[in-house]
Amino acid sequence: MRKITRKLMLKNVPVGGNSPVTVQSMCTTRTHEVQQTLEQIEQLHEAGCEIIRVAVPGGQDATALRELAEKSPIPVVADVHFQSLYVFHAFDAGVAGVRVNPGNIRKFNDKLQEIVNAAKLNGIPLRIGVNAGSLDDEILKKHGETATADALVEAAMKEVRLFEDCNFHDFAISLKHHDVNTTVDAYSKLSELVDYPLHLGVTEAGPKFQGTIKSAVAFGALLRAGIGDTIRVSLTDNPIEEVRVGREILMSLGLKTRALEIISCPTCGRIETDVIELTARLETALQNYGQLGEKPLKIAVMGCIVNGPGEARDADIGVAGGKGKGDIFVRGKVIKTVPEAAIIPQLLRLVEEF
Ligand code: SF4
Repeated sequence: MRKITRKLMLKNVPVGGNSPVTVQSMCTTRTHEVQQTLEQIEQLHEAGCEIIRVAVPGGQDATALRELAEKSPIPVVADVHFQSLYVFHAFDAGVAGVRVNPGNIRKFNDKLQEIVNAAKLNGIPLRIGVNAGSLDDEILKKHGETATADALVEAAMKEVRLFEDCNFHDFAISLKHHDVNTTVDAYSKLSELVDYPLHLGVTEAGPKFQGTIKSAVAFGALLRAGIGDTIRVSLTDNPIEEVRVGREILMSLGLKTRALEIISCPTCGRIETDVIELTARLETALQNYGQLGEKPLKIAVMGCIVNGPGEARDADIGVAGGKGKGDIFVRGKVIKTVPEAAIIPQLLRLVEEF
């Protein structure tokens, strides 16, 4: 059962409450290079990204926020560390949200109450991000110099109390660790203690394959337990991959409607066509299927004529490979046979008709 958290609004995108779990990512461009950043945001949006975060390490980046906030098709969250001046810049620029740690602000120049007042005045929610790599010495010492789940939760609760002491409650929390078990334990424990929306993430999850598995396992365990309101998959790769993986995780759990499902056989000794290559080509050609609201579609790519159509009877369209050819079928019934080179164009034509 989904844990109902407080709802916050990033412009028109709700996070928490009973709203759908959203997919977010972070730009890899230099934020002050506005054109490149907007182009990347557009690509990520097309891939299904619903919220975008940008780093604000310097004054030029803070200045760029206004144009980004105005022109971005999805809510922009400014990621600020330490410099409270940039938090005020971000509010003025009209961003949808700001990621900032109250503990850092307190250490830096103690403008926390002013930040809270400005956030309230502008109706801009904040996010606390507790990271295994930046726990304070006191907490680390108490937990045996290790960023355990309890250490992460304690650090998060310390930050939460700083906001609550300022009578501020419009914020989400993330607890980032690179280890799956620690991540799951930490979010599970925190979820028992607070009702603020939770931003799920396995930080520094690694290269695409490893990071995808780690994120899927951690988010799968948490989301199945009803924990998590927005997700960010962290991959050492193009952020478009993060968005694709994030969407796939949500679709696999039934938390997002799956627009395209490719049912492809694992192949066996009966295989007649290169199913792996055909499937990869189809996946690439249709990677943005569904972004414009196309109806759900199941396509089957099967390795042989003997069992293919029967095994994939509930697919809308499909192909069963033969020697140098493919039987094209619609809902389990073969409608024509085409040479191997014509399989993908034929399937794409059927997708269009569909
Ligand atoms: S569809 Fe044919 S090739 Fe693919 S797994 Fe089934 S029997 Fe083997």
